[in-house]
Amino acid sequence: MSVRGDPFGRHRVVEPKGKLPQPAWKLDNDTTKLYDNEMLIEVIKLNVDAASFTQIKNEVGLDEKKIAERIMQIVRERGKLHNPVTGSGGMLIGIVKMIGKDLNVDVKVGDKIATLVSLSLTPLNLKKIKKVYLDRDQVDVEGEAILFETGVFARLPEDMPESVALAILDVAGAPIQTARLVSPSDLVLVIGAGGKSGVLCCYVAKKYAGPTGKVVALVHSERSVSELEKLGFVDDVFVSDAQEAVGSYEKFLQITRGRLADVVINVVNVPDTEMTSILCARERGKVYFFSMATSFTKAALGAEGIGKDVDMIIGNGYAKNHAEFALKIVRENPKLYELFLERYGEK
Ligand code: NAP
Repeated sequence: MSVRGDPFGRHRVVEPKGKLPQPAWKLDNDTTKLYDNEMLIEVIKLNVDAASFTQIKNEVGLDEKKIAERIMQIVRERGKLHNPVTGSGGMLIGIVKMIGKDLNVDVKVGDKIATLVSLSLTPLNLKKIKKVYLDRDQVDVEGEAILFETGVFARLPEDMPESVALAILDVAGAPIQTARLVSPSDLVLVIGAGGKSGVLCCYVAKKYAGPTGKVVALVHSERSVSELEKLGFVDDVFVSDAQEAVGSYEKFLQITRGRLADVVINVVNVPDTEMTSILCARERGKVYFFSMATSFTKAALGAEGIGKDVDMIIGNGYAKNHAEFALKIVRENPKLYELFLERYGEK
């Protein structure tokens, strides 16, 4: 008998019934049954979303065992890795174990893939967490996951370590959307510029702003300053706490001699940075919120509160060809690739 599920995965929603899997509280993660339009994946590694991993570390401390327990607990409760505080997930890599007969996909059983849909909507049956990598938001696991008919995925590239590819693909939406937003001669501010999406966005912003444009990086640590200086594609870098809106705004104005940004890219992993982004943008400028810790309410009411007319854009995790674009920019810049290898490569 043919058993076809809903293409968006609503057949796996346990609570509340009828919702789509992302906003749902709980999913059916029974991987012993596979619908004809689903793919079964043997999961190897999870890249926990940076805002989620930071929140978990803040909640339980820097103890690998406690972090593993918290992740297991979320998955037990929800059937998916959907952090109830940040609302975000992450992504996974694994091996295709079974393909439903109604699924027309360009992979075969045994292929290694990365899913490009959030873990916050992916049914996950976690058996064990084998290792937690505190410094790169990744965990090695044993378990299985389900990909729905509309779920996007990419075959893992063979020219780089899988942990590096995973780190790049996790944030693939940000660089391609930065390319869409930045025009020649723009002044661009990247907030949280030292992180993985931050360095990718800085590179793309400089490429698209061109020699007459300017890219300024706001970072949180001296380590990020020296890494960005070594990369060599930002015009200025300064240390500031983006949660301190007025202080950060004043530092930015000092660097730009009073000019406000045409485009602000927010890629931090902590909450309460909306107002720094809005203050630093010019009237009718663009503010791109890729951060999962962004509050719609704080951004909308905060901008209104200071009478600032800016276009605010929600960072869609998906954009057409985003995976290819993100991998391509890392391949084309050896320094960028070295940085990813150094930070996210298996030691
Ligand atoms: P990441 O590598 O952890 O980088 C985040 C950066 O934020 C770090 O460099 C960190 O600097 C900086 N930061 C932290 N606190 C700060 C503060 N108070 N002021 C200024 N900078 C601060 O994160 P990522 O993986 O690139 O992800 C960036 C954001 O995108 C996260 O919020 C993540 O959840 C989100 N995300 C969104 C999507 C989507 O679909 N929209 C997809 C994936 C990820 P230090 O390391 O020096 O502290």
